[in-house]
Amino acid sequence: MICTHENYETVLETKGYKLQKCLSCYIIFAKNDKNDTLDRVQVYENYYKKEKANRFGFLLELLVRMFRFLRASKIFFSAPRSKSILDIGSGRGYTLYYLKKYFGFKKTVGTQISENAYQYSKQELVLEIYNRDLLDISFQNSFSIITIWHVLEHVESPERYIERIYQLLDQDGIFELEVPNYISWTSRWTGRHWLAIDLDHHITFFTPESLTLLLKKYNFQVIKMRTFSLEYSTFTSVQSIINLLTNTDSYIFKWLGNMDFNPKIILHIFLFIILLLPCLIVNLILYFSNSGEVLTITTKKCKKYD
Ligand SMILES: [Zn+2]
Repeated sequence: MICTHENYETVLETKGYKLQKCLSCYIIFAKNDKNDTLDRVQVYENYYKKEKANRFGFLLELLVRMFRFLRASKIFFSAPRSKSILDIGSGRGYTLYYLKKYFGFKKTVGTQISENAYQYSKQELVLEIYNRDLLDISFQNSFSIITIWHVLEHVESPERYIERIYQLLDQDGIFELEVPNYISWTSRWTGRHWLAIDLDHHITFFTPESLTLLLKKYNFQVIKMRTFSLEYSTFTSVQSIINLLTNTDSYIFKWLGNMDFNPKIILHIFLFIILLLPCLIVNLILYFSNSGEVLTITTKKCKKYD
């Protein structure tokens, strides 16, 4: 039975949103006072709009591709014998591209609702991508590994996704996911300033407790849980603390998207440099704890009712 989240408590109020924690499944949902929902396709169209040009600038683009390569190698080492993968919300497709090119994957399939990113994956990387929501696609085959990185926090009903993923996975197949960790050290410290609150994009928030509960409900056995990500952790911590100190809204993160010069950026970059190393150290110390910035979970599909 899918949870209807009827009983909840409000855990945070900011920018016209209430974050409501369901008292049954413990998942937190952002509710808008006006009750209007995001146009997700439009949001991702904006995010990927500069696809044809170099989205990040040369150095940043190099860094992003390195992170995608690291992700591909992580996936390979989680399931070395896997030959088929479904990556839900596959970005521009670089993870799938590297898995196919360097790690022996025979079948690499992705989903991507942004038309620009979808076209990039198909034309530049020649990948098999569906430009529809996972819940609207019927696949002919199952997969030996399914991954969903930083997507579940964007969807209204994560439970339906987990249910669908269970159906699409081979018996004993591997399912890997990553989301921001709502009880991370900077989330607790900086509250509404936490980078990953990001109410323009995020509508669902997880804790180690609520996410493992959801996975168990659908017969996934948790093999490994980490709360550190080289790609996300340090940046999230630093940006959240700067948000708190300067009472601004993720200025560097937004600046990276357009790189328009504004004198304000000098202060922000100065703070960024000072905070970078201390935040990296704190995040490394928290590697095995429940308080790092992300939840990265590797699970195995188990038989139902055992
Ligand atoms: Zn619920």
